[in-house]
Amino acid sequence: MHTPNVRGFNFRQETRMTCFVLVPIGRYEIIVAAQPIASEVYVIRHRLQTVLSAEGRTLVSILYLGTGEAFDHTQPNVSFVLTSSSQRVLFDCGYSIPHQLWNISTDPNYIHSIYLSHFHADHCFGLPAVIARLGQDGRTAPLAIIGGPGSQQAATAVLELGYPGILKKIGFPLRFLEIAPGAPETYGGWMFSTALSLHSSPNYSVRVDTGKGTVCYSGDGAASASSELLYRDADLLVHEMYHLDSHPKRSHASVPEVVEMAKLMGVRVLHGVHLSRVHSPPVGVTIPDLGRVYRFPFD
Ligand SMILES: [Zn+2]
Ligand SMILES: [Zn+2]
Repeated sequence: MHTPNVRGFNFRQETRMTCFVLVPIGRYEIIVAAQPIASEVYVIRHRLQTVLSAEGRTLVSILYLGTGEAFDHTQPNVSFVLTSSSQRVLFDCGYSIPHQLWNISTDPNYIHSIYLSHFHADHCFGLPAVIARLGQDGRTAPLAIIGGPGSQQAATAVLELGYPGILKKIGFPLRFLEIAPGAPETYGGWMFSTALSLHSSPNYSVRVDTGKGTVCYSGDGAASASSELLYRDADLLVHEMYHLDSHPKRSHASVPEVVEMAKLMGVRVLHGVHLSRVHSPPVGVTIPDLGRVYRFPFD
């Protein structure tokens, strides 16, 4: 246990998960210690101003809503928002993501599109709630749902299962964009390329060339030969690292193979996500913080 000093105040750090939040009240800022889960909400709320001002200054930024695997009770599902001056895209939308997103912004036009890597529940079951609320909050602008081949049918099925008839009620158009491996497409000024990873459900890893920087996201699964090539010279690779050590089962990636592969492919910055809840964070790998804005050049 150590006692951090924040702006002249002393605090006991009770656990590694405890965090401190500065809440402005008049001329003063009150420090609140918050516990896991709830703290994620507080941190994200507190940093909203930082987020918005940072986005105003930078060309490309990434903000994580979650970094966890499906059944991790300490972390929301892996999901992030990628922003440039031209658009803002949500990547994956698992069942623990809608409330995370609403704590960032309730503006119905905050996101322009959603990329879904695959259709396991921890990556897409938040979709009906997010889409339904956008409709209730008065969105009129079109929203694109981007994914690999078959994503339109799968996303529509998830939406209809969650809220039958939703597509007729929401009041704004949904557009579907399916990007096949080897056939990149440009949307909102960004070029999206996909490749199948090695996963138990078809998962399309994605490369996004924004014109000002390149971000890649594995979704789930170990890297295939084609997804490795997708990551070449990326500024940032966000890759799942479910296993701590090399694992004979290839439906998820492991820390050492991802680290080695990222080096070989010339990736500038690697962020590890979707770690198994039973292993501790790997040494030497950056696990991104929720609520923090990472921006080009990545720090
Ligand atoms: Zn997953
Ligand atoms: Zn999966």
